[in-house]
Amino acid sequence: MAEYRKVVAAVDLSAESATVVKRAVSVAGESGEVHVVFVQEPMDSVYMGVVPYGPVFVGLDQVEQKLREELESRMRKLGEAHAIPRSRQHILDGNAAPEIRRFAEDNEADLVVLGTHGQKGVQLLLGSTANSVLHGVCCDVLAVRIRED
Ligand code: AMP
Repeated sequence: MAEYRKVVAAVDLSAESATVVKRAVSVAGESGEVHVVFVQEPMDSVYMGVVPYGPVFVGLDQVEQKLREELESRMRKLGEAHAIPRSRQHILDGNAAPEIRRFAEDNEADLVVLGTHGQKGVQLLLGSTANSVLHGVCCDVLAVRIRED
């Protein structure tokens, strides 16, 4: 079996992230290193709320700031739970699949681990992060089946 030394665990920071990181840690073994990567996707820069006298535009700077803090806190907790040092916890900005591929390539990763829900029907047509990462990635990919229960 190929040796996976540098392993990227791509997480969405939801509850299922623990499953993905656990698998990455087990594949990397004692001698490997796991990098946990979350990609924050762009929010629309304005929110349009309709009020009686017409539409108003509310800047989302504060909302984005709060969200960022929450995501950083989740990443820290996830890292602590799985003994991943801060230097291997990464929050990137952009679109998830291309950023994950770019990170894997720039860091010469041997394996990307991510979750998959076994999409069916219309979800399959729309694609998932796991499907998108596969297209053009520089290394092996391990899709960990996430059980909905
Ligand atoms: P999804 O395609 O949203 O069902 O997500 C499937 C898996 O892709 C998740 O379990 C994560 O492993 C990974 N993933 C989804 N969104 C992100 C994200 N924003 N950053 C990093 N990985 C992600």
